[in-house]
Amino acid sequence: MVTAKARAVDGPDKSFYETEIQRRDLDINDILIEIKISGICHSDIHTAHGEWGPVNYPLVPGHEIAGIVTEVGSNVSKYKVGDRVGVGCMVDSCGECKNCQKGEEQYCLKGNVPTYAGVDKYGEPTQGGYATHIVVTEDFVVRIPDNIELDAAAPLLCAGITTYSPLNHWGAGPGKKVAIVGMGGLGHMAVKIASAMGAEVTVLSQTLSKKEDGLEFGAKEYYATSDPETFSKLAGTFDLIINTVSAKIDMDAYFSLLTLDGTLVNVGAPAEPLAVNVFSLIGHRRSFAGSMIGGIRETQEMLDFCAEHNIAPKIEVISADRIDEAYERVLASDVKYRFVIDISTM
Ligand code: NAP
Ligand code: ZN
Repeated sequence: MVTAKARAVDGPDKSFYETEIQRRDLDINDILIEIKISGICHSDIHTAHGEWGPVNYPLVPGHEIAGIVTEVGSNVSKYKVGDRVGVGCMVDSCGECKNCQKGEEQYCLKGNVPTYAGVDKYGEPTQGGYATHIVVTEDFVVRIPDNIELDAAAPLLCAGITTYSPLNHWGAGPGKKVAIVGMGGLGHMAVKIASAMGAEVTVLSQTLSKKEDGLEFGAKEYYATSDPETFSKLAGTFDLIINTVSAKIDMDAYFSLLTLDGTLVNVGAPAEPLAVNVFSLIGHRRSFAGSMIGGIRETQEMLDFCAEHNIAPKIEVISADRIDEAYERVLASDVKYRFVIDISTM
């Protein structure tokens, strides 16, 4: 077993503290990864704060993991010691159900094994990437392309794939008008990826304070949702809206921005239910959908797409003793645009 240094939290209102966790002995298909960088996703905060349901504390969050392979099991064929690799939001699935067979392991009918706050096939609680090492079965590890630095790669493993997958699925591309609601970690990746796919991108942010950045990321238009005129001006405009907001918002106002047959995809995951007035949908044959991360094959495809199009997140690197401060800033929408932890400071 490998002892990893980690940062854990013991309850919804508690601070992070230094600790040690054990990573399992390598099974024949397992890889030991020395983690270099770990991103901070808003999902880490929802989970650490117990907003999505009861959590077995102590909890080590982190599902945007980039590092180096340091040991491989005897049956491992895809990776060798020294490879640059990533791990995202899940570390296993049944592999046999129809969704796993399609490569959509995130929708495993038996439930995928989340990177943290889950239970693995050995019956042990999973602990995430705010740690120096992790052991993962090779099928849930992806290769980081040579031209993407590890610190920039980490946020792609959740924020990147969570936005790439619905943009890909709903056909963002030339001739399509796409709006991105909320320009935080997921939102800024959505702007970059949708623009690279060739769509005409509009950002809908609470204020205009990040407008310059949004246009630089590839958006053509940028509007403040605090201005009621935004909603009258843009009524019936978008083929696709990706809502990345972490809190409850007035969905009907956003449905009104969809064109005939347009789709609003929620990737934001607020704990509270979102209210829907069905007349906002039936009037223009609109759809309201959801999407969760992406499969392993699609995650590799997304990394290769980002490498090809020179897409990287805009990050702020922090030391491990600043996780609590980073959480507060994310909650205040004061993040430009993803915090990543330098694991050497662990
Ligand atoms: P984030 O960095 O905090 O970004 C969320 C953005 O939403 C903020 O930057 C802000 O953008 C906007 N926002 C926040 N509070 C708001 C409010 N009260 N009203 C209107 N807008 C508000 O979070 P993230 O890491 O991108 O994650 C976003 C959400 O996606 C979280 O709920 C997370 O759990 C979820 N998520 C889902 C998946 C999935 O698989 N579906 C995967 C990862 C994360 P502006 O400042 O531009 O307004
Ligand atoms: Zn995430």
